[in-house]
Amino acid sequence: MLSPGDLRVLPKDPGIYLFFGRGRELLYVGKAVNLRRRVRSYFRPGQRDSRLLQLARGTVEIEAVVTSSEVEALVYEADLIREHQPIHNRALKGEPPLLYLKIPVAEEFPRLEMAGEKLPDGAFYFGPYSSLSQVRLLQDLVDRHFQLRKRPGSIGATPKRACLNHQIGRCRAPCAHHIGPGEYAELVAEVQDFLCGDEELLLLRLRRTMELAAERLDFEWAARYRDRIGALRRLFRRQQVRRFVLRDQDVAAMAAAEDRLEMVFLSFRQSRLIGVHRHRSHDVKNDARVFEDFLLASIKKGVKPPAELLVDRLLPHEADLELRMRREAGRRVRIRHPRRMPALHLLKMAIKNSQVALDWS
Ligand code: SF4
Repeated sequence: MLSPGDLRVLPKDPGIYLFFGRGRELLYVGKAVNLRRRVRSYFRPGQRDSRLLQLARGTVEIEAVVTSSEVEALVYEADLIREHQPIHNRALKGEPPLLYLKIPVAEEFPRLEMAGEKLPDGAFYFGPYSSLSQVRLLQDLVDRHFQLRKRPGSIGATPKRACLNHQIGRCRAPCAHHIGPGEYAELVAEVQDFLCGDEELLLLRLRRTMELAAERLDFEWAARYRDRIGALRRLFRRQQVRRFVLRDQDVAAMAAAEDRLEMVFLSFRQSRLIGVHRHRSHDVKNDARVFEDFLLASIKKGVKPPAELLVDRLLPHEADLELRMRREAGRRVRIRHPRRMPALHLLKMAIKNSQVALDWS
């Protein structure tokens, strides 16, 4: 945790930041391309916006979590807002307070639409997102990789002339009957997987379509899907849009300096980030015991115990710790040391965040 006076030690990486008030209540969650620049902007002297001033004055502690990309920060920010509904996220964002993306799946050729609220209208909603730029970023990714139709209006029995969106590769043109309802429904399912972050399911779905095309000797179609799989894999590698596994996992890591230990604990439920906390100790000589105590205390603190706890090192009393955690949590919490993706990605995130804290005084 940092106080508003310590912000120059924040990294310049992308990530999310959390502002806490006097009673340790969560006031605000935001995401940033550059954490240091963004967070410092709230506390600049001469701030005129009364709502920002009120937020800055009420903030006594700041938490920051480094992520691997801006998109990942966006996803985790949405997770935390959904989980905690911080009051200032609503108050600060103007019109509309929170944004959603929706797909009215009951329609034959639904579009990806922006929505200001979640209605019980049978549509699929994604979010909430806290800024228009986040929504635009996701819409742009969907346009580029999935090409749902862009314009409203009915799709009739007679094919029409496709508009510019088709020519620039942003729409598959159901209006001109370049894509039928069945295939379009597949596309919609792919977008749902994408926006939920179910990368594995999405790639599986695409691979199945590619194989089916190859089986019916439609090699042009199969090649098209092969290229899409490649493009999405590259995107996922770059952006870590993620939600690799829908499992309840906590992730913890510890970094050591000569005079102190910095520990971080991240909680993921159904692959959504719901909590983060840290601990600092100067008992460097007993680092293993301190870390084990921290893990146990963190599990105790959590509302819902995880199925797995991913840690960055072998623990001397691992079996015993598992037993103690089972007693505390009322269920088995398996300790794991992941070496492979996707769990390794979460662990790397925890390691990076424990190391970042070494710069915090
Ligand atoms: S190409 Fe057709 S379906 Fe696509 S946005 Fe244009 S008018 Fe709509």
